[in-house]
Amino acid sequence: MRKISLLGSTGSIGKSTLEVVEQHPEQFQVVAMAAGANTELLAQQVRIFKPKLVSVGNEHSVQKLRDLLGDCDTEIVWGEEGLLQAAAFSEADFVMTAIVGSVGVAPTLAAIEAGKTIGLANKETLVSAGHLVMKAAKEKGVAIIPVDSEHSAIFQCLQGERREDVSKIIITASGGSFRQRSRAELEHVTVADALQHPNWSMGAKITIDSATMMNKGFEVIEANWLFGLPYDQIECVLHYESIIHSMVEYKDRAVMAQLGTPDMKVPIQYALSYPGRMPLATEPLDLLKIGTLHFAPMDEARYPLLRLAYECGKQSGTLPTVLNAANEVAVSRFLRGEIRFLTIEEIVERVCEQHDNTSNPSLEMIQAADAWAREKATAWSE
Ligand code: NDP
Repeated sequence: MRKISLLGSTGSIGKSTLEVVEQHPEQFQVVAMAAGANTELLAQQVRIFKPKLVSVGNEHSVQKLRDLLGDCDTEIVWGEEGLLQAAAFSEADFVMTAIVGSVGVAPTLAAIEAGKTIGLANKETLVSAGHLVMKAAKEKGVAIIPVDSEHSAIFQCLQGERREDVSKIIITASGGSFRQRSRAELEHVTVADALQHPNWSMGAKITIDSATMMNKGFEVIEANWLFGLPYDQIECVLHYESIIHSMVEYKDRAVMAQLGTPDMKVPIQYALSYPGRMPLATEPLDLLKIGTLHFAPMDEARYPLLRLAYECGKQSGTLPTVLNAANEVAVSRFLRGEIRFLTIEEIVERVCEQHDNTSNPSLEMIQAADAWAREKATAWSE
């Protein structure tokens, strides 16, 4: 039985993880959960899954959750300390990191330190502190299993192969909500427009990141850390249907691809069942119904944040941390209606330009760079 601590249970990945758990009650058990502010949903989840420990975002939510749960054996903790407790919970052997943002760095490191297998959905963790996370995982002999559909696809295509035989990986991108629009047409798009992803139903932040292509940039950096490949061996291509989740080309020019209907339950379950596979109730892929798959080259001028991510990833140090933190602030400001869509790019680019990069940073240096970038991005006015 796999005993899971689920960080971010009330989010899109968190809910899909619980749907997978529900399909396999004999194999998977949720023993700890963490969420932020959605205490109503969390209370429902606690009643169904009966974790032993649950962490909420702040002290105020502890009382709210207690009131909603009434008499209940679950221990309730809160805040950053609560997240760390959930991540290192002694009864868990697997931690699903499905919270959003660089707040995921510390709990991921705590989970690794406690020897847990990591199911990594939270991509901001590797973007922000990839060298620390990968080093800690290596030292502890802990497996990091990717949950992002693209990285899960690559991970699956690499099974049984030798890394030195890989010539490149090809990450596919749907193009996000505005793939049919020119840059000029992006001038006055609304939050509601930006949240309409053509293929995937996801949390708000990653949906906006998909529209700016920052998400693909993060995935490139994530792939560099997860698979140890240099940036010139990581390519991105537009693929509108999101049926091929990514590909690996080997040196004999054989290309392995992983295909499926766009449903995050597939990579989530693979991370949980790895190295085995289990049945999953989801839509089977019907290629005859789809008929044609479309591809197009990635246009760097159209998506400047993707180009910037490559640059920041190559320079490494605190720059990717700054890229991520500035983007987190810019996206939440856009979601609150404070800035226009194209200002997200402007903020992220300007904050990265102003940053004095430090190589091989410690966790404290990462946290300081993150805080610096947040301050700059918050102060930016149009
Ligand atoms: P959501 O916004 O849907 O969910 C985020 C989750 O994180 C919620 O449970 C939220 O709690 C919780 N959370 C946020 N801040 C805190 C905090 N400070 N302490 C504790 N919990 C917190 O995001 P997604 O599920 O879409 O994405 C999660 C991660 O997975 C992201 O890093 C994303 O990039 C990555 N990912 C997502 C994919 C998807 O299909 N959605 C695909 C691939 C990767 P609450 O709502 O209660 O406040």
